[in-house]
Amino acid sequence: MISAIILAGGRGKRMGAKVSKQYIELNGKPILYYTLKKFSNCKNIDKIFLVLPKDEIEYCKTHVIDKYSLKVDCIVEGGEERQDSVLNALEKIDNSELVLIHDGARPFVSEKIINEGIKYASLYGAAAPGVTPKDTIKIKDKNGFSIDTPNRQDLIAIQTPQVFKFSLIKECHRKVKNDKLIVTDDTMVVESYNNKVFLYEGDYTNIKVTTPEDLLIAERLI
Ligand code: C5P
Repeated sequence: MISAIILAGGRGKRMGAKVSKQYIELNGKPILYYTLKKFSNCKNIDKIFLVLPKDEIEYCKTHVIDKYSLKVDCIVEGGEERQDSVLNALEKIDNSELVLIHDGARPFVSEKIINEGIKYASLYGAAAPGVTPKDTIKIKDKNGFSIDTPNRQDLIAIQTPQVFKFSLIKECHRKVKNDKLIVTDDTMVVESYNNKVFLYEGDYTNIKVTTPEDLLIAERLI
């Protein structure tokens, strides 16, 4: 059994739009439609858990799930932060070997990235796609001055889906909550307890639609 958690529990404040960013339309259909379609078309995924803010559940059912007859097995209420939303979804999964955790705002994920994540997580317990940053990345001090330049070849801009053995990610997420750690993605969750994550080749087109400039790129990609 393989489950996918699709995270759409945020408001997307950085987009500055009136509607939550997952409902912004690309070529006449909401961003979330494209993301869900990618996972429902994937034969390796058995169950889809969709995380939404409580007050958007009815809207999303009517305007996305039912309208486009999308396969969603369980709708989960989102939490305060991304990590709370993930844990809410993990607690709803009864039994699974692997879990994929994917940002609803990444509609351009390919079937290859999904399947490779499944393959590598089966082998290593945890896997995530990423790309080498195109820019040189600096570390700055509190006053805004550069203090270090890591070697670009050692850096990876991490994407989703991030794929894990279910028992591992659930246990580590529970510990993170207990230990009150703040994390920005799920690889950090397992790394916090000394587990290794295999990083494989993602794709520069697997963008997270976050700010208005991303919409221009998304319109071209669609
Ligand atoms: O905020 P960020 O861009 O990291 O969010 C990544 C994904 O996590 C988005 O798809 C967003 O909807 C989701 N999220 C969530 N619950 C929150 C905050 C973000 O499901 N409380």
